[in-house]
Amino acid sequence: MGNMFLECFVKFYDKMVVGDLHHTGGNYIYPFIFISNNHILYLNRKGVQAMTEATKKPQYTMIILKPDALVKSLTGNILARFLEARLKIIGAKVVKVSRELVEQHYAHLKDEPFFDDLYEYFSGKTYGPEYERVLVFVYKGADAISKVRRIAGATNPLEADPISIRGAYGRINKKGIMENVIHCSDSEESAKREIHLWFDPDEIIEEIYPTKKVIKSNCEVIEWA
Ligand code: UDP
Ligand code: MG
Repeated sequence: MGNMFLECFVKFYDKMVVGDLHHTGGNYIYPFIFISNNHILYLNRKGVQAMTEATKKPQYTMIILKPDALVKSLTGNILARFLEARLKIIGAKVVKVSRELVEQHYAHLKDEPFFDDLYEYFSGKTYGPEYERVLVFVYKGADAISKVRRIAGATNPLEADPISIRGAYGRINKKGIMENVIHCSDSEESAKREIHLWFDPDEIIEEIYPTKKVIKSNCEVIEWA
């Protein structure tokens, strides 16, 4: 009990307020602890919000900085924008995207007439060999999916909130493809599917989905020479 109190106290210290019993009028609307006959320590509104978030089941979401984000040198800006969501990065990598990966990632668009152009864009071929790569992140936290989608903005950059990432930095290219700078998972199911597709279990620092041990022999691996 003592330890739990200490943990909570340290976690929410800056959101705690000492009040006296007269000021609260006896209505304890916030979590509180008596510290003397006349004084109580309670969480302010932000504290209650933080505590609610901390006790929620975490969600996972995958974010991709598409090649146009790299061409426009937006990596720092975009990651800074996501700070406000107060999520944790638990996986990150640079990937050169194959046709097969794009077909799997955008399986719901595979039969669209614009798929070839989407592949050219998403693989970075539109911008030349130097930009044939994307940055991929897995974020963890309360309501991660909706928080990230809100900061990202609508799919079509012309319709997105101008202050959102896609609204501020996206465009529609000459072929009609929405170059909208980032991808982000749209549901828990998509996040799970996408994380399984893009990451191996040991590339995520926590075991977020069930794993199994497999013994592989006679398989070639590349090591540092
Ligand atoms: N896209 C496009 N034109 C369309 C639909 C999609 O260029 O009519 C591109 C766009 O880059 C979008 C991606 O394909 O981000 C995936 O589409 P989705 O509908 O899944 O939107 P998102 O989940 O990225 O908002
Ligand atoms: Mg999507």
